[in-house]
Amino acid sequence: MLFTIQELERRPARFDVALEPGTIEFFDPKLRQISPLRAHGSVELMSPVSGEIRTRGRLAVEMEAECDRCLEPVRMPLDEAFEVFAVPLDDRRGPGEEVEIHEPDTAVEFYDGSGIELDNILREEILLKLPMRKVCREDCKGICPQCGRNRNAADCECRPGPVDDRWSALKEL
Ligand SMILES: [Zn+2]
Ligand SMILES: [Zn+2]
Repeated sequence: MLFTIQELERRPARFDVALEPGTIEFFDPKLRQISPLRAHGSVELMSPVSGEIRTRGRLAVEMEAECDRCLEPVRMPLDEAFEVFAVPLDDRRGPGEEVEIHEPDTAVEFYDGSGIELDNILREEILLKLPMRKVCREDCKGICPQCGRNRNAADCECRPGPVDDRWSALKEL
């Protein structure tokens, strides 16, 4: 959904959408959207001079990724308020006229062309809000590096650490 500068110059826009999985491409084969993405909020041109656009609202979605340790699916529900400022990519302001800094944890995006693509804002916001470390549970034991078994399901017989075979050579003497 594109909001053009021309329409935002007239008035702020509102959105209320439910996007099925596949509508937004996440460019990560390990990451899947497994529920509709619901988002509502507003898009507003803050300054016709700088072209700064503020998008804010709330999004809710359930994402799924692979556990970093055992590769089993991990469900990650998100339900977050967000606020994103975007400035034009082809910014031709003179030196010294810096982009206004907002709250330190507020995302600042760039847009090019005629306006703001809501899909891009939502994708970036979801990627930002997902946990860096994706584990199925805090004490996930992961996969055994020796036999490849999922150690959450069953303990394997492998001993930790490299096997020292000098002793077996001694036994044969
Ligand atoms: Zn795991
Ligand atoms: Zn093992």
